[in-house]
Amino acid sequence: METISASRLNCWQLCRLKFWFRYVLRLPKPSPPALYVGSIVHSVLQSWNLGRWRHKTVDIEALKQTFHENWKEEQAEAVINWQGEEEAEQTTGWALLETYFRETPITLDEKPEAVEVSVEADLSEHGLPKLIGVIDLVRAGGRIVDFKTASQTPTVKKAQHLHEAQTSCYAIMYRESTGRKETGIELHHLVKLKKPKIVVTPFGPMTDNQQTRLFKGIESYVSGLDREDFVPSPGLHCQSCEFFDNCRSWH
Ligand code: SF4
Repeated sequence: METISASRLNCWQLCRLKFWFRYVLRLPKPSPPALYVGSIVHSVLQSWNLGRWRHKTVDIEALKQTFHENWKEEQAEAVINWQGEEEAEQTTGWALLETYFRETPITLDEKPEAVEVSVEADLSEHGLPKLIGVIDLVRAGGRIVDFKTASQTPTVKKAQHLHEAQTSCYAIMYRESTGRKETGIELHHLVKLKKPKIVVTPFGPMTDNQQTRLFKGIESYVSGLDREDFVPSPGLHCQSCEFFDNCRSWH
């Protein structure tokens, strides 16, 4: 194995059998609606960030049009299991963005340091594969931002715990790419409630302890893949697993 990404590591840590279905067998599956909404919301946030990066005037009506165009276009290459809820999901998606643009702590004149930037880190000196990934946004002054859509309001402790592997990956790649330490990390959650809500969770720079936890996690991933240790990890996350039927017939 030559490379590893935060999304692969996350999937592995969630369920090794799911990892097997998704990344080894590459079984084609319809995308869950929540994932599709998240990807379109993400694409509009990217346009918004790029607009500020290019010093362009940000027009919310134009972003709304981008949202609806992307919604249609991306479906040409995706199969979504809407179950009759497409219109409602589309309305929710735009409501999330509208709320974000109204309440975001990022001002329109703040130029980002980087937007959707591909980064990597050579971890060979630790005996680990190369880390690769894409960072959503780096705010001025070196604050790494990751956008998330969620159905529940996150608490600070849980957000940090659940996303620690991902944020630590970003911190390591940012440091390798810039030669500087990030000044902080922020999770911007767009929460799908009846009345959408924005929750910004700021953390300090990655600590040495967090780096150790990440490297131990990657070591376990590497040795697990070598052993082909693909077993199910049943839990609440199975409710949204697209491989549920495959899992039930696995032996
Ligand atoms: S249903 Fe649960 S245990 Fe089975 S593959 Fe999916 S996440 Fe893993």
